[in-house]
Amino acid sequence: MFLSRLRLFFRHRRIGPAIGLLAAMTFCSGAPPESVDLLITGGLVVTMDPQGHIYENGAVAIGGDRILAVGPAADLKSRFRPRTSLRADGQVILPGLVNTHNHVPMTLLRGISDDLPLMDWLTRYIFPAEAAFVDAEFVRWGTRLACAEMIRSGTTTFADMYYFEDVVAEAARSAGMRAIAGQTILDFPAPDHKTTAAALAWTEGFLQRWGKDPLIRPAVAPHAPFTVSPENLKACSALSAKYQAPLEIHVSETRAEQAQILEKYKTTPTRHLHALGVLSERVIAAHCVWADEEDTRLLHQYGVGIAHNPESNMKLASGVAPIARMLRMGMAVGVGTDGPASNNDLNLWEAMDLTGKLQKLHSNDTTVLPAEQVVRMATILGARALHMDAMIGSLEAGKKADLICLEMRRPHLMPLYNIYSHLVNAYKGSDVSRTIIAGRVLFEKGRLLTLDEPQVLAKAYEYQQKIAARFTRR
Ligand SMILES: [Zn+2]
Repeated sequence: MFLSRLRLFFRHRRIGPAIGLLAAMTFCSGAPPESVDLLITGGLVVTMDPQGHIYENGAVAIGGDRILAVGPAADLKSRFRPRTSLRADGQVILPGLVNTHNHVPMTLLRGISDDLPLMDWLTRYIFPAEAAFVDAEFVRWGTRLACAEMIRSGTTTFADMYYFEDVVAEAARSAGMRAIAGQTILDFPAPDHKTTAAALAWTEGFLQRWGKDPLIRPAVAPHAPFTVSPENLKACSALSAKYQAPLEIHVSETRAEQAQILEKYKTTPTRHLHALGVLSERVIAAHCVWADEEDTRLLHQYGVGIAHNPESNMKLASGVAPIARMLRMGMAVGVGTDGPASNNDLNLWEAMDLTGKLQKLHSNDTTVLPAEQVVRMATILGARALHMDAMIGSLEAGKKADLICLEMRRPHLMPLYNIYSHLVNAYKGSDVSRTIIAGRVLFEKGRLLTLDEPQVLAKAYEYQQKIAARFTRR
């Protein structure tokens, strides 16, 4: 019954059973099987490749940290002799999710205060808590906690902006996660550097030290046009150009920021960045809620990646980003959670769900952002927004082996008529059954394999007690 429903769905999909059969015939013609590290078989493989291939009873072959082949299980079983085999019957196999905007150590400030005006929230709670508690240890344990949450819920790559970013990089790498680690630059003293000049000098060394890491891409992250001077923005841009490193920045997040930049520079944040020469194909711009048509034209022209954060934008009452327009223009718009203090979790399934629903409500049009497009935003388009789509974001031969398995036979997932609709509107982070990054299994059978979860939770509780004593609203 389950399979007959799947077949009903597949009759309407552009899957290639005939292609698969042809491929199987081609490869059954006598060549000896090739040895591979890992073969995952039996799942419903949703590739997110340019043709939108989906394979019922599919398989993925992995050698080292790369995907060697994707296709029908019968075909791959005849072509490859695996050192390790994993079954994924009754499961979906999907590219790992890409979280395009995050401040991961802020897990330790999750829910410290909610339901306040933005400036109260920032000045009475977030900034003082950061000034009092953020150091390398805080960042280490906050990142480990975030990695545990993200690996469990199927995120395989995240883009971060915070302080002590080398500690974020170390913690993410030892957990086995792929990340862009962006060192925050501000005009005022930060927890890790007293002056902007010191932060910039340190960031240059950070870009040099981590430039060749297989999992971590170091980045420079000027906080926003209203917190970083034109001179410092130019210095960040020069570093990004010198080391071909990503540049992460918040842009046009709130109406207040828009007004502030207009008053100070007589222009919009995007046009201000353009005038300074900061926009480039290395930039990842978070939010862009108040970007007007000229702004989006400029962002598009430079190939800037956009990180859309619907939950943070809703919770902080920032507004609704014009992402339907951006997507129509062909821009790379990914999904992000933003920091866990303004979300309050790192679960990308909720962000996907709200990405679709918020645009439908805002435009009063049920046809905008169909489910398949939202899944693309959380996978291949998100990878494009991070300028990493040649490496990750889809299940294709040659790409890094970052993929997740999802349960299918659960009450809230039955019956199944359209897998994309399910992925956006019905799946939860808790439906992830296995997470693989760079060919390495990090989560399986309910267990995290690279993190000591009880220890991470115990540390989080220690921080809770310390921080709550000073900051929690009564
Ligand atoms: Zn942010």
